[in-house]
Amino acid sequence: MSKTLYSSNIMNQFDVIIIGGSYAGLSAAMALGRSLKQTLIIDAGKPCNRQTPHSHNFLTRDGETPKAISAIALEQVMKYESVSFKKGTVVSGSRTNSGYEIVTSNKDVFSTKKLILATGIKDEMPDIPGFAESWGISVIHCPYCHGYEFKTKKTGIFANGDQAFHLAGLVSNLTNELTILTNGDHEFTDEQIAKLEQHSISIVESKLLEIVHQKGAMERIVFKDGNALDLDAMYAHVPFTHHIDLSSKLGYKYTEQGYIEIDAFQKTTVPNIFACGDNSSRMRSVANAVSTGNFAGAMANMELTNENF
Ligand code: FAD
Ligand code: MG
Repeated sequence: MSKTLYSSNIMNQFDVIIIGGSYAGLSAAMALGRSLKQTLIIDAGKPCNRQTPHSHNFLTRDGETPKAISAIALEQVMKYESVSFKKGTVVSGSRTNSGYEIVTSNKDVFSTKKLILATGIKDEMPDIPGFAESWGISVIHCPYCHGYEFKTKKTGIFANGDQAFHLAGLVSNLTNELTILTNGDHEFTDEQIAKLEQHSISIVESKLLEIVHQKGAMERIVFKDGNALDLDAMYAHVPFTHHIDLSSKLGYKYTEQGYIEIDAFQKTTVPNIFACGDNSSRMRSVANAVSTGNFAGAMANMELTNENF
């Protein structure tokens, strides 16, 4: 490794600062490092998939732990001498005459010409005992990431209306034992109900009391009405927030769905600020984070290069 990680005396002026050093941020850093750009990654070390035992559906790393994937990525990225890595949490940012100033919780201050937001999203766990403990283990967010491991198993879908209907279609490809848990009155159209019945997908409207599990491996769902349902896995769409919101200071905007608004070049609505990975995309996967990060890095490099050419 070319330089000490977590070094406290790294320089303070960068071409690009990347906030978030998981898959999206590291991928951006690789493109920038290979382009000789002075790049600082600041990372708090809390990727959203950290509780999942195995990550799937990413070529060459199928079934690896999330940590193994990012460890290899970090090692490869840090071989590029213009890239520095700082463990820490960014708490604020502001515009300067030449770009941006970024401040961490340790009161370190760094300046940069361009900023890449690779901060991911923060999943909000519902107040159901066992839910957070099972997140990423048997409470899963996506059929492509973990569905295969639960094929033919007793499966629930914790969602309602169009979202549940859409997931039901996808998941019915993997298992015939499917129950939708709407956790309150269902919001399906008559047409949707007919289709679900046609595929023997049942709907339970009772509110969830608890997920009974062993180290995150679910055994059954207990409902507030006293009933219970044996399940091996449950898909869940949960609301999200952002780890940090610099929009009022820096001026970038969000979409109606709450993602950072970007164009086809990963550029936010503000010049010199890019976003990549989960914070700006509904397509939530390691592959998408790596792809959008790679593109954000390339776009930041292209702008920097053109500005000096
Ligand atoms: P993240 O990986 O979430 O990383 C964001 C990083 O930014 C974190 O390290 C965080 O600490 C840091 N950060 C945030 N704010 C700050 C700040 N203010 N200062 C400093 N650092 C900050 N995808 C797959 O392809 N296969 C799977 O099997 C799979 N399983 C998953 C399981 C679960 C439970 C979840 C939730 C997701 C899973 N995903 C999977 C999706 C995948 O994990 C994400 O799409 C991917 O992690 C997004 O990468 P990212 O870099 O955008 O964000
Ligand atoms: Mg995330």
